[in-house]
Parts: sequence; C-alpha cells; structure tokens
Amino acid sequence: MDIYRSLCDIAKEENVAVNEPMSRHTSFRTGGPADYFVTPDNAKALVGLLRFCDEEKISYHIHGNGSNVLFSDEGYRGAIISIGKNMSDIDIEGDEITAGSGISLSALSSAAAGKGLAGLEFASGIPGTLGGAVTMNAGAYGGEMKDVLVSVDVCSRDGHITTLSKEELELGYRTSIIQKKDYIVLSAKIKLNKGNEEDIRALMRELNNRRRDKQPLEYGSAGSTFKRPEGHFAGKLIEECGLKGYRVGDAMVSEKHAGFVVNVGEASSEDVLKVIRHVQDEVKKVHNISLETEVKLIGF
Ligand SMILES: Cc1cc2nc3c(=O)[nH]c(=O)nc-3n(C[C@H](O)[C@H](O)[C@H](O)COP(=O)(O)OP(=O)(O)OC[C@H]3O[C@@H](n4cnc5c(N)ncnc54)[C@H](O)[C@@H]3O)c2cc1C
Repeated sequence: MDIYRSLCDIAKEENVAVNEPMSRHTSFRTGGPADYFVTPDNAKALVGLLRFCDEEKISYHIHGNGSNVLFSDEGYRGAIISIGKNMSDIDIEGDEITAGSGISLSALSSAAAGKGLAGLEFASGIPGTLGGAVTMNAGAYGGEMKDVLVSVDVCSRDGHITTLSKEELELGYRTSIIQKKDYIVLSAKIKLNKGNEEDIRALMRELNNRRRDKQPLEYGSAGSTFKRPEGHFAGKLIEECGLKGYRVGDAMVSEKHAGFVVNVGEASSEDVLKVIRHVQDEVKKVHNISLETEVKLIGF
C-alpha cells in the first residue's frame, strides 16, 4: 500500500509532507524527521486520517504548535497530524466564543479583546494552540483554561465525535481527560466576561512585559520544563542546586529562569534530555523531590 498516496487522498497533496524535520515545528527547535507530516483542512479530513491510521496500524501523534514537546533526534516513525491555522475558525456570539482547536491563543485572546471580552488575558502570551491549551489546561498569572471553558468537541481515536462538558474534561494542574483518553480536540467553546477593550489590552501588555522580564524568550524552549511540585517552585529548587547555566552542548538551564531548559544554539534533543535528567537527579539528591517534566517527550 502506498501510504503517501492514501494520506494525500484524504488530506490533499499540498497538506502532506514527507521526512519533515520536527525542528521546524517545535519551540525547542530540535527533533528529527517525521515520516509524514499532515495538516488537515477540517474535521472531516482529520477523522479520515485517524480512521486510516487506525486501520493500517500506522502510529500517529497529534501536534499543535509544538510549544510543549521534545521530539527525539530520530524523529517520528508514522504520521504527525498537525492541527493549526487550517482549523482555526472563530465565532463570537455575545460573551461566548467557539473556535477551532488550531487557533493560536494569541489570536484568540486578541479577538476576544476586540469584542471587549475579558478573561483570556492570561493566555495571550502562551505560544500554543487552543487544542494544546485545553489538553494541557494551560495557565499563567492566576488564570487557567478551566476558568473559561464551557465545553469541547473531541474525537476519539476510533473517529467518534462527542461533546464534553467542562466537568467531563477533568481539568487539573496541566492535565485533562484529553491526555488520559487520548482524545483529539476539534473545537472549544469558552465563556468570558464583558469588559473594556482598552483595559483588557493594557492587562495583556502588562502580563507580556512581565513574561519578557522573567523568561528567556530569546532562546528556544518549551516554557517551564518541569511541573511545579506540590508546595514548591521548580525553578527555585533547581537554582538552589546551583544548576543555573548547567550545560550539555547547546542545551542549558537558563541563567534568567532556572525552570527553563533552553536551546542557546544548535542543541540536539539528546542534549536537552541530558540536561533534564541531570536536573532531575540533582534535585532528587539535594531536596529529595522528584521533578516531573511538563514537556511531553515524543519518539524516545
Ligand atoms: C516561551 C514559552 C512560554 C510558555 N508559557 C506557558 C505558560 O505560561 N503556561 C502554560 O500552561 N504553558 C506555557 N508554555 C507551554 C505551552 O505553550 C502550552 O502547554 C501550550 O498549551 C501547548 O500548546 P501547543 O499547541 O503548542 O501544543 P503541543 O506542544 O503541540 O502539544 C502539547 C500536547 O498537547 C497535545 N495536543 C495538541 N493539540 C491537541 C489537540 N488539538 N487535541 C489533542 N491533543 C492535542 C499534543 O499531542 C501534546 O501531547 C510555554 C511555552 C513556551 C515555549
């Protein structure tokens, strides 16, 4: 069977790439080639891809903006199904917004601000898609997706589409039912509050300035590399181990924010992973605390 031809038939030839370097699609700027990289135009093509991969036993991974993943240098054997701007329709009615999972959080929060809707300011500087943010229950500066979500349309691995209420999403700290059940987010409905556009944009600017002051945004990274352990801050624990600036190749514990492992040049994913493992070992040794990665490791 010609897998490439079949993927083109389902998702259109211009949406299928072969041997695509994942370093082009991840904020770490690392990762080897994926056999197939497919960007479906709509939910129908997406469901078609899922069914095809399931029937033909082809491994696949759902990809958003790649801002919370570390792909192996070997790349990925199978299909990366990328949900991005091809699936980013947005519909605003009153104080509710329904949007495709591929929309970026910055575009979504800006559209909300434009309609004088408050509540998404926290998300404007998070460099992910809506689908990735629902999956991770992304949050910042006291806000999280859980605060604004009403319901989410998901597709199961066997191609069955259903709507999950906020309660059914089981949203917790950087977790959701989407991860546990391997659902695919198609779209989400959020509810915001009436506000004033200027105030909303001013708050967004303030939070983004705080981000620029505190975070090493000039380098590749996936944001906070580790989850916050109960009662502690990962960055502080790492700093107390004297690990700021700890480096393997071009992967390094950021000097600016020890919670970030950054790619300061041409790091490989292996370099990044070595830094991650060393940090975990040292924090365990010094503090007897196990740091869990927030970043998803794919293809290792
Ligand atoms: C500089 C920087 C700052 C950051 N700051 C924050 C922050 O303040 N708060 C925060 O929470 N995060 C932060 N992050 C991490 C990241 O941006 C978020 O986790 C974001 O929600 C990930 O979205 P994504 O589209 O990039 O997902 P990806 O990285 O592509 O994927 C992440 C996970 O979600 C899954 N996924 C993606 N899309 C879908 C979908 N449609 N359906 C089902 N599963 C899907 C993937 O399979 C993967 O398991 C930061 C990252 C960077 C680089």
